Amino acid sequence: MQTYGRLPIALARGEGCWVWDVNGRRYLDGLGGIAVNTLGHAHPRLVPALQEQVATLMHSSNYYHVPLQEQLAAKLCELSGLDVAFFCNSGLEANEAALKIARKFGNDRGNHNPEVLVFEGAFHGRSIATLSATANPKIHAGFGPLVPGFVRVPLNNLAAVEAALDAHPNITAVFLETIQGEGGINEARIEFLQGLRRICDQRDLLLMLDEVQCGIGRTGKWFAHQWAGIRPDVMPLAKGLGSGVPIGAVVCGPRAAKIMQPGNHGTTFGGNPLAMRAGVETLKIMEEDGLLAHAALVGSELKAALKAGLDGVPGVVEVRGQGLMLGVALDRPCGALLQRAADAGLMISVTAERVVRLVPALILSREEAAQIAAILVPLIKTFLSEPQA
Ligand SMILES: *Cc1c(COP(=O)(O)O)cnc(C)c1O
Repeated sequence: MQTYGRLPIALARGEGCWVWDVNGRRYLDGLGGIAVNTLGHAHPRLVPALQEQVATLMHSSNYYHVPLQEQLAAKLCELSGLDVAFFCNSGLEANEAALKIARKFGNDRGNHNPEVLVFEGAFHGRSIATLSATANPKIHAGFGPLVPGFVRVPLNNLAAVEAALDAHPNITAVFLETIQGEGGINEARIEFLQGLRRICDQRDLLLMLDEVQCGIGRTGKWFAHQWAGIRPDVMPLAKGLGSGVPIGAVVCGPRAAKIMQPGNHGTTFGGNPLAMRAGVETLKIMEEDGLLAHAALVGSELKAALKAGLDGVPGVVEVRGQGLMLGVALDRPCGALLQRAADAGLMISVTAERVVRLVPALILSREEAAQIAAILVPLIKTFLSEPQA
């Protein structure tokens, strides 16, 4: 189907933070498969582990216990301080599970019209329910009627949250990305997150933090909300958790841990041994190699290099983000930079039309980070110096 506007590039293989196209041309990968390839390409310790798993047991069934599932759940609970996990195959599936939890949380207490508070700029996926939770009208267009039960307010505005909760007593959950990815690298401020935690405790609501993109070490903590010293009740994960093997998870704390009972939810593929092995090994390698501290260091150097090159340049609005989740916001649509960066041997993404996004593998070296900035800064400057179309 014609679902994607693709660049005229076909990729053949990768190694570390480099990829080669079918013509043998090499690119520095600043995109990491959109925050997915946590350990880069063809990681020398992940590959043999996955090969061994494929040759042992790839898929069984959730009719039976899956020891690797229990192992990954225990690790995610240890790292997050939460209690239980459910596994699926993608970000939107993780968010669907979270939304079902929010609805059942209400229904279990006699609220048969539960609503969820969501935010401007949000992206939660492209299923019918998650696109309804998403804020982007382009993502809604053509797919109405939207799923009802969402109330939307601006990000980083606690007064707006309180007002919406007062006006909509059926709201059972507050649902947001700790750092908006597709929306343009917009951070929920620390005081805002702490305020939401307080409000959700006072009003007995679920705080559901979509860490599909910003989680798994990307910001220099296991989960981005840990910078605010809070815990969510429900945390959807996906992208970086399997280093490229499709995987999703919902991790829940005590308020949400027992909402789902046998028969309430399920998936055929979710939690299969191959994906679970990918998750277990990814987290293990991240720990062994100190990739959280590394992502924080390399990310701060990359951000500093981008700021040094771009701050004050007319047309540059802001260099923002944390760790290896960075955005350069411009004052104009900049999709043209995708092809230009590729021509210069660099893979990036452009999101929210005007934001150049960098979400590379967490193994990015300091030299590679410097190379990204050395390629990107002059490209952006040249682009901004041209008359606008
Ligand atoms: C990518 C993303 C999703 C959707 O994940 P898919 O695996 O594409 O379904 C949901 N939420 C956030 C924050 C994302 O970045």
